[in-house]
Amino acid sequence: MTEYEHVRVAVIGSGFGGLGAAVRLRREGITDFVVLERASGVGGTWRDNSYPGCACDVPSHLYSFSFAPNPDWPRTFSGQEHIRAYLEHVADVFRLRPHIRFDSEVKRMAWDPEQLRWDIETASGSLSADVVISATGPLSDPKIPEIPGLESFPGKVFHSARWDHDYDLTGKRVAMVGTGASAIQIVPAIQPKVAGLTLFQRTPPWVMPRIDRAISGPERWLHKRLPFTAQARRGLLWGIRELQVQAFTKHPNELGFVERLAKGNMARAVKDPALRAKLTPDYRIGCKRILLSSEYYPALTRPNVDVVASGLREIRGNTLVAADGSEAEVDAIVFGTGFRVTDMPIAERVVGADGRTLAESWKDGMESLRGASAAGFPNWMTIIGPNTGLGNSSMILMIESQLNYMADYLRQLDVLGGRAALDARPSAVHAWNRRVQDRMRRTVWNTGGCTSWYMDASGRNTTIWPGTTSEFRRATRRVDLAEYEVLRAPATEETADRAERPEVTA
Ligand SMILES: Cc1cc2nc3c(=O)[nH]c(=O)nc-3n(C[C@H](O)[C@H](O)[C@H](O)COP(=O)(O)OP(=O)(O)OC[C@H]3O[C@@H](n4cnc5c(N)ncnc54)[C@H](O)[C@@H]3O)c2cc1C
Repeated sequence: MTEYEHVRVAVIGSGFGGLGAAVRLRREGITDFVVLERASGVGGTWRDNSYPGCACDVPSHLYSFSFAPNPDWPRTFSGQEHIRAYLEHVADVFRLRPHIRFDSEVKRMAWDPEQLRWDIETASGSLSADVVISATGPLSDPKIPEIPGLESFPGKVFHSARWDHDYDLTGKRVAMVGTGASAIQIVPAIQPKVAGLTLFQRTPPWVMPRIDRAISGPERWLHKRLPFTAQARRGLLWGIRELQVQAFTKHPNELGFVERLAKGNMARAVKDPALRAKLTPDYRIGCKRILLSSEYYPALTRPNVDVVASGLREIRGNTLVAADGSEAEVDAIVFGTGFRVTDMPIAERVVGADGRTLAESWKDGMESLRGASAAGFPNWMTIIGPNTGLGNSSMILMIESQLNYMADYLRQLDVLGGRAALDARPSAVHAWNRRVQDRMRRTVWNTGGCTSWYMDASGRNTTIWPGTTSEFRRATRRVDLAEYEVLRAPATEETADRAERPEVTA
């Protein structure tokens, strides 16, 4: 990277969001862009989460790009290695690699109000860009809780998203902290090999069976020869999930029927009433993500597993002490404790028009316009921004809607001509968020009686989209210029010599 390189668009991240943005930019005829990635390979979530048992909870024919169908998915729910391979394939087929700068973590970026561009400092050098597409992912920075004594634990410690494959768990006494989507995949995968597994469960999840099977040769042949069959399959998977949304958003009581199914699922696997009592949630199903596993409950009944129905409170040497006072001596601790979702680290590194960081601007909660733009941060858009998460369907649908919005945003800038930038009007941001939060009030995520990572520190749900994916698609089809202030650089600045710009300082 040359020291003062300038590009039209800088994309941050090379997961589904960043790669999808790159494909869309090329399709829009834009080739003057870079993808800045802190790691040394593509894949995002599906590169970082390589823990045993890691797999997707959404069928692969829906959890993939509509513009890059894969007739060869081996299973209905693919594992991490297949999804990662798919993203590598996307990077190759769409010729994205020349645009990607690996080992280029974005350290800081600041809006230059004179030049109307972002000055970006990365681990591999500095550059500037007219527009930044931030696709750093909501589940990309692991969160490990502050547990007294953790720093002096003499054994091995790692997070599910940073699995240490050099450390062999065979015959070890292991503590699994957390019972979220990753933990319930890890537990059955490691249970057969460890000497003992103590599961620290603060809140039990609702778990439904996972109907996973190999996709047969004839099915794959059909999808390859007659692509509309794969499209029909995707359409069916999507339609079923769209129909479910009403129950989550408007009629949470209708989910009682699903709770009965989930309890039946548990009762079939767990015969011990005391263990069943520990594993039975006391909140409405759907309030936290409904987890899918046919192996989790059976694994918990094995003699080498102990479920502690309490959070981890402190660590004394090798001894882990739960909030209820129970103790377990272990050799290794695996944290399945989630990610920094409502306090994303990238927000601390983005400095807007008034010199404030995005984190400062979002100190009372994340807010954006249509999940993309933030007031005071011109020409900056985020993929999977505030209130774009889903409780029951594929995030790829939301990402693709955001890419439509991004493409129209860039077209609007072209139409404006010259050096122009768009800054979301605070009134438009507030109006959008009022509508989102009004709709949120009745949803199961807000009324279901649970504490979840969907909520921020102030108890506001700033992560989930309270509607169908088609509603979001409609809302992001076009950029409404009335929702933005158009900024223009003075004509003389247009010809400014970029090579003389000062470097961004941290
Ligand atoms: C274990 C797991 C299972 C999941 N299962 C499902 C599922 O079943 N269904 C579903 O819809 N979603 C699921 N998700 C959510 C998943 O995160 C999204 O579906 C999607 O993959 C997000 O893509 P992304 O590109 O936005 O983010 P990511 O895939 O997280 O990619 C972000 C990229 O940005 C890079 N990055 C971050 N910060 C910087 C920086 N400062 N500078 C440069 N690069 C940076 C990261 O290294 C990473 O490569 C799951 C997530 C996890 C962790």
